[in-house]
Amino acid sequence: MHFISEALDEYVVAHSENEPDLLKALTRETYQKVLQPRMLSGHYQGRVLSMLSKIIAPKTILEIGTYTGYSALCLAEGMQKDGALHTIDINEELHDFQRKYFDASPYGDQMHQYTGDALEIIPTLDTKFDLVFIDADKPNYPAYFHAIIKKMHPKGVILSDNVLWSGKVIEPVHDRDISTRALLKYNSLLKKDPRVETVLLPIRDGLTISRVL
Ligand code: SAH
Ligand code: CA
Repeated sequence: MHFISEALDEYVVAHSENEPDLLKALTRETYQKVLQPRMLSGHYQGRVLSMLSKIIAPKTILEIGTYTGYSALCLAEGMQKDGALHTIDINEELHDFQRKYFDASPYGDQMHQYTGDALEIIPTLDTKFDLVFIDADKPNYPAYFHAIIKKMHPKGVILSDNVLWSGKVIEPVHDRDISTRALLKYNSLLKKDPRVETVLLPIRDGLTISRVL
């Protein structure tokens, strides 16, 4: 879904950084071989993630929801030379695909993959994070926030994706739509929690930036 006109969207992309060749190849192979390729961040959002990461210059990054590794590679572009990116996905079939592209990038050794339920893996990570990207299953967003907030460095940044959920957050919610319900709860939680400062940006499907105080 486009929140701005397609013509304006094209103009925005045309006046933003180009997509690196490795990410173009990753996108092509994702569309050929993997289910639900639209989950991948893509050119424009990828450049936004890369830019934010470069501004933050994190030493430690956590990603919840790797999929085929697109957003992980964008976030890695801004990580410090001796930094590490930890990324979790529940789908073990994606592991080798991710590794192939991580190793083709300059950051292969700094990319740490975890396979399993993020809520089980996060408590086992003995690291504090400068940057976290939340992009896995939407019903768990509030739980992800509670799991990571204790593991953030002061002034760390939490990015949350798909927070507008194709606009469903302002429509009447169906009883069984647990994703929309969770996102409504999550967006209020970020606004109210005194431990973070939050702005919701209407980028693509909604991207929230929360800065830990
Ligand atoms: N961040 C990626 C897209 C992620 S799509 C990008 O922008 O390119 C969401 C991913 O979350 C899927 O790959 C799915 O397998 C994963 N996921 C769903 N539930 C999960 C869970 N409980 N723990 C970890 N990963 C999960
Ligand atoms: Ca997403």
